Order: sequence, then C-alpha cells, then structure tokens
Amino acid sequence: MSKSEQKSSSSSNPGEQAASAASAAAGEIIQPAPTPAPTTLTEAIRYYSDPAACVAVIREQRRRGGGEPECPYCHDARRKHYWLANQQRWKCAACRKQFSVKLGTIFEDSAIPLDKWLIAVWMVANCKNGVSSYEIARDIGVTQKSAWFMLHRIRLAMQDDWSGGKLGEVGPGGEPAAPVECDETFIGGKARNMHAKKRKQVSKRRNYGKTIVMGMLERGGKIRTAVVYDRNKQNLHEQVEKHVAVGAEVFTYELISYWVLEEKFAHQVVNHAMRYVEGNVHTNGLENFWSLLKRGLNGTYVAVEPFHLFRYIDEQAFRFNNRKDSDSGRFLKLLKKVAGKRLTWLDVTGRGLETAGGEV
Ligand SMILES: [Zn+2]
Repeated sequence: MSKSEQKSSSSSNPGEQAASAASAAAGEIIQPAPTPAPTTLTEAIRYYSDPAACVAVIREQRRRGGGEPECPYCHDARRKHYWLANQQRWKCAACRKQFSVKLGTIFEDSAIPLDKWLIAVWMVANCKNGVSSYEIARDIGVTQKSAWFMLHRIRLAMQDDWSGGKLGEVGPGGEPAAPVECDETFIGGKARNMHAKKRKQVSKRRNYGKTIVMGMLERGGKIRTAVVYDRNKQNLHEQVEKHVAVGAEVFTYELISYWVLEEKFAHQVVNHAMRYVEGNVHTNGLENFWSLLKRGLNGTYVAVEPFHLFRYIDEQAFRFNNRKDSDSGRFLKLLKKVAGKRLTWLDVTGRGLETAGGEV
C-alpha cells in the first residue's frame, strides 16, 4: 500500500475500512478512499499530481445528469457507454469505439499532461485579475508559447453559452427582476506604440483603433458582453433585444442610440451631471466590471490584439458571473465546459506553428 493510500484509509470511517478489508479478502482491487477535494491552489497541485485523480475529476464533470457523455465518434448520447476502469476510458455502446476523457475537449491533441492542464484551469478560474502566459509557463513548467495556447483554449471553454434565459426576466413566481444596466466602454488603441503594419490595420476602423465593448448587467446577477463595431442604434438595440427580456427595467446613459428603447423596455436614463447621486438609476455595477476588466488587461497582459479581445472579456465575465462560488466551485464549473470545444493553433493565430509567437 502506498503512502497516500495509508493516509487516506486512516482518515476514512471504520465501516469503510471493514468493507475494504472484506473486498481485499475477496481478491478485489482496493480503491483508495476519496480524499477531500482540494480547496486551494496548493491542495489542487498536490491532489492532481495523481493522474487517476485528473481523469476522475474530468470524467465526473463530463457525465451529464449521472449519464455518460456523448460519444465523440457517432454522437450517440442515449445509451449508457461503458467505463473501462483499466484503460481509464469510455467504450461507446453504439459504435464500440473507445474514447478518453480528453477526446472532444479543449485538452484533445495536447501533449501537455492533464495535471498541468488542470492547474492552469484552476489558476485561470480563480485569479481575479487574470493570469498571463508567462506566469502559467513558470508555475506549471511549460514554454510560454504552450501556455499562451493553453490560455486561449481555456478561455474558449469560459465562453458563455447564454443559457438560462435573458437578463431582467420576471421570476417563475412573478417576482420582479433587478434592473439591467447597459453601457459601453472603449478598450485598447494605443496606436502609436504599435508596429506600423498593425497601426495601418486598426486605423482603418472607426474610433481610432479602440474596440467598443458593450455590457449588459442584471444588477446583482450576471453580465453579458458583446464587441460592437459602432455605437449606432441598430447595433446597440440588437444586443439589448438579444440579451434583455422585454419589459425589463433598463438603465443607460443619455446616448442617443438608446432612445427608442422605450418601445419595449422600461428605459431609464442616467443623468450625466448627477451620475453617482441618481438614486437607483445608475450603471455603477457595470463600471465595476469595466474597471476589473481594464485592470486585468493593463496589468497582466502585455498587449491584446483587437481580434483576441473578446476572449479576455469572456474570461473576466466567467469569473464575474461565478463570483459567488468558491475557488473549487468555479474550477469544477469551468471543467464542465471543456467538452465540445476545439481550438487549433491556426484558429487562434491564423498562422502555422513555426511562425507564431505569443503576444500575451
Ligand atoms: Zn459511438
């Protein structure tokens, strides 16, 4: 018996010990008693240094409602697939092919071992201001280029699938929803520090290379964000209609593009002059999110390409939307989202591996 098994069996209750003794007598393989799930980064590093623990936690998060995940080959989701304990993989009940916990997830095709992946996932899920590829590279022992690519895959998993209805929806018991704050912010655009070629690219856009991000926040609840190319009426309305329930109370600034919102929403306009003293009508919740986002972008990330920006926003929005969870809760929620997502090097860079360099 290994050291860790001794430690874990000594902490289990006497009933379990008796049961494992009985199964040992019958010649069965004794599974170590489950140790408590990690709650801190240090505990997570220790816990997931065991490859079996890595497979177990991903398997558990990929099971849907107690069932097994969809087969990545034939997409059969109805039948119960077999779990081959010795091979640590599933066997499809329909097409009989085998698949590992990594297949069909952001971890697929990666040479980085799962323990390193899980620690990177933990770090990204829980670092409030974000974490750079340099930090990940140093902490888990991979190259910065690998860490940069891992980060992009993790951010893809963090993308919101916008399930769970619209913002500002009346509750099932008719309870009124919190107001929805809508506002935009400008990000980036330090054009004079850019390479000449890049500067030419961004200067073609409006707003002098700055990217406009629109945010909609149900007060005390979730945020949804969108990158918009222009603050015109059509763009902003499209987003509000997409994400906010009809009839919801919507707070915006005096921006003229929002003016016709009255037709569908209980629209209230924040008075600029009295921005912070307008009582209930303000967008301070959203301001907090923007400052969190910008702190992360300015402090942690060296430079953000405009076309990558939406992924950084997704990352910050994920942490914000799950801010009431514990570190381990957020980690497990993120792990639940790794399946069905694929991102190749070409997707991220538009270039081949040999010419690419990490920006962040
Ligand atoms: Zn299958």
